[in-house]
Amino acid sequence: MKINLALVKGDGIGPEIVDSATRVLDKVATKYGHKITYTSVLAGGCAIDATGVPLPTDTVEKCLASDSVLLGAVGGPKWDTLPGNLRPEKALLGIRKAMGLYANIRPAKLYSALHDRCPLRAGDGFDLLIVRELTGGMYFGESGRRDGAGGVEAYDTECYSVMEIERIGRVGFESAMKRNKKLTSIDKANVLESSRLWRETMHKLAEEYKDVEYSDMLVDNAAMQLIKNPSQFDVIATSNMFGDILSDEASQLTGSIGLLPSASLGSGTRGMYEPIHGSAPDIAGRGIANPIATILSVAMMLRYSFSLANEADCIENAVETALNNGCFTGDIGGKLTSNEMTNKILELI
Ligand code: NAD
Repeated sequence: MKINLALVKGDGIGPEIVDSATRVLDKVATKYGHKITYTSVLAGGCAIDATGVPLPTDTVEKCLASDSVLLGAVGGPKWDTLPGNLRPEKALLGIRKAMGLYANIRPAKLYSALHDRCPLRAGDGFDLLIVRELTGGMYFGESGRRDGAGGVEAYDTECYSVMEIERIGRVGFESAMKRNKKLTSIDKANVLESSRLWRETMHKLAEEYKDVEYSDMLVDNAAMQLIKNPSQFDVIATSNMFGDILSDEASQLTGSIGLLPSASLGSGTRGMYEPIHGSAPDIAGRGIANPIATILSVAMMLRYSFSLANEADCIENAVETALNNGCFTGDIGGKLTSNEMTNKILELI
């Protein structure tokens, strides 16, 4: 297979971890007979420095012309004081919007080698997948300030259409069908009208997926259950804001933010793949970042965008074996550099 990737290395540790991930991708491609070509593009702080804007038009065009996008991370203290529309993070929202990426998929898994890094007594461990709606809800609803009886008041609006709920719900059910056939839809239907529409729509969809064990859960309970017994979950489907919060909570249960990949998908096969962490300015340039989250993002890309399940398994197994062999970077209690960790994974492929 020929694959043309847009690489958004970004800022801070972004270039270091993307380089690790492309080395792994190249090795897998050679092993399985694929040809990968890369087009590097600027986004985030480095794009502001070079062009004055966080997301140059050329970057958007090259992302849209690619088969998928691999992103490191954007942002850092150097650009923190810029006005909102010039902030590096604008680049992420801009790429997601241009590519129509409405589903954010974040697996969170506790590796047996890292049981003692989990802040919980997590028993037999857990392996769950959060499907978060990415382009609707309160982050995109009407918002503003106005004068009220108590002085200035501010408002943000949560709004979801049946179409938006159905399309993210389907991603949840389809993901559950490929895993352990269990889906928990998380909402706040006891209080919010938008959540009641979410729940009604999910119930209708559930009738199409009789093989999936479906349940609803209120978001406050879900926050507790993730801490109490994370292994009860297989796939979670939820709104933009609830997913934002719960996926960060779940990530912490795995031991390090440096381990967790993510995929953002739309209606076609093209997606954007990135680690869930940021640009880690505190460790940038020191060669000690954990490259695993970005390496596993590449595995997700092979699985979701190119249906190359064996190749994805190959990377995921190599990562798990490296961890089982005690290969750890600093964030998970070891001493390996990013390069050494990457080399261990390459040896195992
Ligand atoms: P962060 O995720 O960059 O870092 C949080 C902590 O985790 C830091 O101590 C960091 O050293 C550590 N860490 C993160 N990734 C690691 C890795 N791979 N290996 C080892 N340790 C790792 O979050 P932050 O400090 O809140 O944000 C830093 C910058 O990144 C900010 O400018 C923020 O806006 C940006 N950011 C970007 C993205 C993105 O590009 N998707 C996401 C989140 C934050």
